[in-house]
Amino acid sequence: MRAVATISQSALAHNLSIVRRQAPQAKIMAMVKANAYGHHLNLITPLIENADILAVSELSEARQLRQLTHLPILLLSGIYTTQELQEAIDLNCQIVVHHSSQVHLISNSTQALGVWLKIDTGMHRLGLSNEKYQQCLSDFKANTLVNIECVMSHFACADDTSHPMNQQQLSEFKTLTNSKNNRSMANSAAILSLPASLFEFVRPGIMLYGASPFADDNADLKPVMQLSAPVLHLKTIQAGETVGYGANWTAENKTTLAIIGIGYGDGYPRHAKNGTPVLVNNTLCTLAGRVSMDMIAVDIADTKVLIGDSAILWGDEKLRVETVAEYSNTISYELLTGVSSRVKFVHGK
Ligand SMILES: *Cc1c(COP(=O)(O)O)cnc(C)c1O
Repeated sequence: MRAVATISQSALAHNLSIVRRQAPQAKIMAMVKANAYGHHLNLITPLIENADILAVSELSEARQLRQLTHLPILLLSGIYTTQELQEAIDLNCQIVVHHSSQVHLISNSTQALGVWLKIDTGMHRLGLSNEKYQQCLSDFKANTLVNIECVMSHFACADDTSHPMNQQQLSEFKTLTNSKNNRSMANSAAILSLPASLFEFVRPGIMLYGASPFADDNADLKPVMQLSAPVLHLKTIQAGETVGYGANWTAENKTTLAIIGIGYGDGYPRHAKNGTPVLVNNTLCTLAGRVSMDMIAVDIADTKVLIGDSAILWGDEKLRVETVAEYSNTISYELLTGVSSRVKFVHGK
C-alpha cells in the first residue's frame, strides 16, 4: 500500500478548454516546466496533443519532452553556451532571449532558429531592458537565420487583480512593442482577470492543472492531480493524550485516529497545520499532530473507516489543493511540484 497520484485526463482537457474560452483568439502555450508542475510529462497527453506550443525551463526538460511530442517547445531559460545552443537547435526548440550574451551566441550561429524576446517590464527577474531590447530587435531583424516568434513579458502581481503594477506593466509592454510582432504577456491569473493582456499567445500554467490563482474563485477549473494514500491503522486515544512528534495535538475527548501512509517524504507539506482537512470516505476530517516523514494522523470523528481505505489529501471538488496550501502557508504550485518520486503516478479518466 502506498500513496498514489492519479492524473485526470478529462480534467486536463476541460481546463485547456477554459483557456480557449477565455482567450479564443490566442494561441496557447502550455507551461509544462518542472515536469508539468509535478504531474509528470508522460501523463499530460491532452496538453501535449492539443496545446499550440509547450514551454519548459531548461534543456534537460526539453530533452525529455521531445521524446513525447512534435509540438514546438520553448526553452524559457534560454541558452548559455554554444553547446547548449546546438542542443536546443537539435531538439528543435525555440528559445527565450533575455540577456545580450545570448544575442551574441545566436548571432554567431549558422543555423535557423526561432526566438522569443523577453522584456523586463517590472518583474526584475529575467528580461531585456528597453535599450537592450531595441538593440536585440534590430540585430535579429538583420539576421535572416533568426525568426522572432514573439515578444514576451511576465507579470509580477497578476494574482492580485487590484495591484497597480498590472496596468503599469501592461502599458509599459504596449509602449515597447507593436503588432508587427506576436506578443505574449498573460499567465493563468491574467488569462482569468485581465482581458487586455491576452495578445497573440497566452501562457497558462497552474490553471491547466486545475488550481486557481485566486483564493476566492476556482473559475470552473477541475483538479487534475488527486493525491491519495491508504489508511494503515486505526487507533482510539483518550482525552488528554497527545499525537505525534512534539506532542502538539491533544485529544479533548476520546478520539479515533486514522493513521495514513503519507508524509513529507512523499511531498505532503510538513507545515500543514492541525485541522488541515483530509477527505476520508467522502467526509472531511482533520489533521491531528505534526506531519511525519511517512505518516499523518487524522481525527476521523465518527466516520466509518477500515484499514486499507484510501484517503484523499487533495484533488477533489471537496478538497482542493489550494485549501491544503492555505493551511500550510504556501501555494498550490509548491505542493503540486513537490510530490516525491516515492508516490506512484497513474493515468486517470
Ligand atoms: C510559469 C510561467 C507561466 C505560467 O504561470 P501560471 O501562474 O502557472 O499560469 C507563464 N509565463 C512564464 C514566463 C512562466 O515562467
